[in-house]
Amino acid sequence: MSQANDTYPPVPMQEGTRQEPRLLAAGPDAGWAQHLDTFGTWEPHTAGPGLLEELAAAGLTGRGGAAFETWRKATAAAGSGRKGMFPGRPVVVANGAEGEQLSFKDRTLLAHAPHLVLDGLMALAEALGGASTYVYAPAAGLPRVQQAISERPRGKRIRLVQSPETFISGESSAVVNMIAHGSAVPTDQRRRLSESGLNGRPTLVVNVETLAQVALIARYGAPWFRHAGTPTDPGTRLVSVSGPAPARDVVLEVPGGAQLSAVLEEAGMDPAALSAVLVGGYHGRWVRPAGHALSPVGPPARTARPGAGVIHALDLQACGIQATARMVSYLADQSARQCGPCMFGLPAMASVLNRIAGGETNHRLASELDRLGKLVTGRGACRHPEGTTGLVSSALEVFAPDFRAHLSGYCTGPGGAAA
Ligand code: SF4
Repeated sequence: MSQANDTYPPVPMQEGTRQEPRLLAAGPDAGWAQHLDTFGTWEPHTAGPGLLEELAAAGLTGRGGAAFETWRKATAAAGSGRKGMFPGRPVVVANGAEGEQLSFKDRTLLAHAPHLVLDGLMALAEALGGASTYVYAPAAGLPRVQQAISERPRGKRIRLVQSPETFISGESSAVVNMIAHGSAVPTDQRRRLSESGLNGRPTLVVNVETLAQVALIARYGAPWFRHAGTPTDPGTRLVSVSGPAPARDVVLEVPGGAQLSAVLEEAGMDPAALSAVLVGGYHGRWVRPAGHALSPVGPPARTARPGAGVIHALDLQACGIQATARMVSYLADQSARQCGPCMFGLPAMASVLNRIAGGETNHRLASELDRLGKLVTGRGACRHPEGTTGLVSSALEVFAPDFRAHLSGYCTGPGGAAA
């Protein structure tokens, strides 16, 4: 992980993925004093409603998964509030829920740079005309946030809500449901949260890393933000990188458009010793370790969408089908069980994958997976079914030779039941 530097703003480095720290520049466990030493007192380059234009110029996209343009989401909430169509002050929620098992960058950020997240939360609330503010995070992260709030001169207005440790607890409508009713299940959103969210008020649910980026853009401006990354994927992002032993789990800050192979090397792995990499988490896709840039925009043949910043590598001996079967079983178990595709479709997909992984040589199983994928797509209240089928389709593509091998009665991976 990048280490803190002495002066700020840091000068971005252009080679490989090496990036001077921005988000974690204040160093480990930074309290209020270290935060001010590193970033200075709050004298923003842009504040108030003008911040939304600065975010547009910066090209900031959400770092929580969907990569929506942050200024568009914020402008929609600000517009609904101003027009008085949906009465009540807007609400901004800092979303630190990290139900994805392979993700740990948000909890790392909240532990080491909570003040940057809170700066972004307050700045966005001000840009929306004085919105109410919440931090939504798992139990383990709340004491650190509470401590940071107590250190700030105007922190008392921020409310804390504990997120459950479930995969879908961070989905935006689940976040609002948890705060309003104590139940983190998604709802069918006929009306957008930016129009009518918490208690009918325009509501913005924003990932904590996105808020930290908002804070830096408010302080230093859009041109500074664009010094790192590419024109279509500006700035930096945090990624949670994990892989086969002896690789350690690490959080890296990498520029937009970084090559996946360079990120893997930075994390201490040799791309040539890996068979595939899961990019974007359990709702992401499998890709080969070389030839892809990390970016939410670009052709799938050359880019991999980072989603919530999850990168997980498999070594050459591991069985991709067994790994995918485990993930889909987990996802089937994690649904809110309130829509047909999740109640019936995902368990059926998990069952077929486990049969293939376990050595069943019925060649119809591959087409059955395809059929089930089409059946569940677009039929849930949230995107959990689509995310799961996306993972399975990428497995069918990247592990095509392994599927053929399994269906012919053998597995090249260790412990393969079909071996
Ligand atoms: S699609 Fe699945 S996860 Fe989403 S709300 Fe329906 S049951 Fe829950």
